[in-house]
Amino acid sequence: MGGAPGSRPRLLVLLGRPVAHSRSPAMHNAAMAAAGLAGRYVAVDCGADDLPALVRGVGEGGGGGNVTVPHKAAVAALLDEPSPRVRATGACNTFWGEDGRIHGDNTDVPGVAEALAALGWPVDEGGGGVLLLGAGGAARGVLRALEEGGHGGPVRIRNRTRQRAEVLARESGAEVDDGAMGAEVPEGTRLVVNATSLGLDEGDPFPLEPHRVPEGVRVLDLVYRPGRTRWVRALRALGIPALDGREMLLAQGAHAFRRWWGVDPDRQAMERAFGGGGDGNGSRDP
Ligand code: NAP
Repeated sequence: MGGAPGSRPRLLVLLGRPVAHSRSPAMHNAAMAAAGLAGRYVAVDCGADDLPALVRGVGEGGGGGNVTVPHKAAVAALLDEPSPRVRATGACNTFWGEDGRIHGDNTDVPGVAEALAALGWPVDEGGGGVLLLGAGGAARGVLRALEEGGHGGPVRIRNRTRQRAEVLARESGAEVDDGAMGAEVPEGTRLVVNATSLGLDEGDPFPLEPHRVPEGVRVLDLVYRPGRTRWVRALRALGIPALDGREMLLAQGAHAFRRWWGVDPDRQAMERAFGGGGDGNGSRDP
């Protein structure tokens, strides 16, 4: 929707279930305040049946929003103007109304790309093999980001439900990894990405035991928690370069902000609102 910043108040929503834990309202409200924009971002816990009225109503009112688990695919199907990234992934995490039409994009894709860059991956031109844990919506965003980045190494998908890994592998040209969750990392792997939801709760098992991650491998966990996820803290304790989903969340949010307002947000304001001290050892909840 873009347009002149501050031109009129806009309602922005986060559609998902659950949404209470999300840092997006704090991040976006802080960024709008820093830019002097008249907007309000609220989290809306909703079911699939509520989506058509919410997306259309908010969009037609000149607003927009983000979409999170489990609604990204359903909202992608409601759009009048899906972006190429929505078409490629079948998932929409950002929508807005413009000229009476509902537009949508998948800013998780540039979010993953920025997180990989922050991790220092690829280390060299070849990139090396990738082990992708998970085969849901977030995994699709990772595959698209790898494709756009042109990082050539083979990608292996390991998922609790093998059939979902097979479907995704077929669609993307990746391979299915036969290892059980938690099994050894295949030879030649240089990057492990956790795109499962393991780690959302501090008590969850690790997606992969840290001692099974060989030297020379970098790790990106898409799950985030203020103070970093328990898995990332354990990996770092062994000297393994690892980031959780904080960088991705901030980057996808910054790209969404630009879609809505036509300007870049103050990322430091967003980061302060995220809270939790980044690389500290604490595990303070949002
Ligand atoms: P999704 O479509 O529901 O997929 C969930 C994935 O997690 C599936 O592969 C599922 O495997 C796996 N899984 C769930 N519980 C598991 C368990 N107990 N053991 C092993 N695997 C399990 O969700 P999504 O949209 O892909 O999101 C996945 C995670 O990515 C989210 O939880 C979120 O934290 C993170 N994320 C972060 C950002 C960010 O900005 N940082 C953005 C998007 C997503 P099955 O196929 O076997 O069910």
